[in-house]
Amino acid sequence: MLKVGLTGGIGSGKTTVAKIFSLLGVPVYNADESAKRLMQEDPILRRSIIAHFGEKAYTEGKLDRVWLAEQVFNDKGKLSALNALVHPATIEDALQWMSQQQAPYIIKEAALLFESGSNNGLDLIIGVQAPEALRIERVINRGKTTEMEIRKRIDLQMPEQEKLDRCQEIIQNDGNRMLIPQVVQLHNKLMALASPTHTHA
Ligand code: ATP
Repeated sequence: MLKVGLTGGIGSGKTTVAKIFSLLGVPVYNADESAKRLMQEDPILRRSIIAHFGEKAYTEGKLDRVWLAEQVFNDKGKLSALNALVHPATIEDALQWMSQQQAPYIIKEAALLFESGSNNGLDLIIGVQAPEALRIERVINRGKTTEMEIRKRIDLQMPEQEKLDRCQEIIQNDGNRMLIPQVVQLHNKLMALASPTHTHA
């Protein structure tokens, strides 16, 4: 089974692209969603978050995401500490999930694919590219986040170009090129790559 990563900057359209792959029948693991679920449900991870950040991280048993975001997005050291707890748990969970899949190929979608080291063990990585101004506009339109918060998060991520340079395939989501034909074309390529008759050069 081919293991394919999917990444891109905030608001680039990763989740939108992942949904199209999913409609084509490809199993998709969403690392960002899983990380949120694990922070809530994984007892070991919960205990380490409380040990590090204090009881305030959970209110009545529920992760206080707003409080935690305030802590980590204003302090790089705290963000690294949180990532050092959450990323390994998510990588482990993704491996478990992969071992249960039966498909020619699977997709692992992660905003911080390279930053977290979860690119290791993947056969190929797809990057979703969109101009920064459009990414910011899309995230603002999605609601809940201000431009200042988005810019702060962009500054904490690996520079867009550095990220895309490390991807073997690029999907352009710049508002000019249609997404669906690009995904279908890539899907056909990946299916051929994953086929047992394919011989690696
Ligand atoms: P994040 O890193 O914040 O999770 P993302 O990279 O997963 O973002 P999406 O959530 O897929 O990005 O897209 C951001 C927003 O832009 C969503 O509201 C989505 O519906 C919208 N969007 C994405 N691509 C397009 C497009 N080609 N045309 C119109 N809207 C789009």
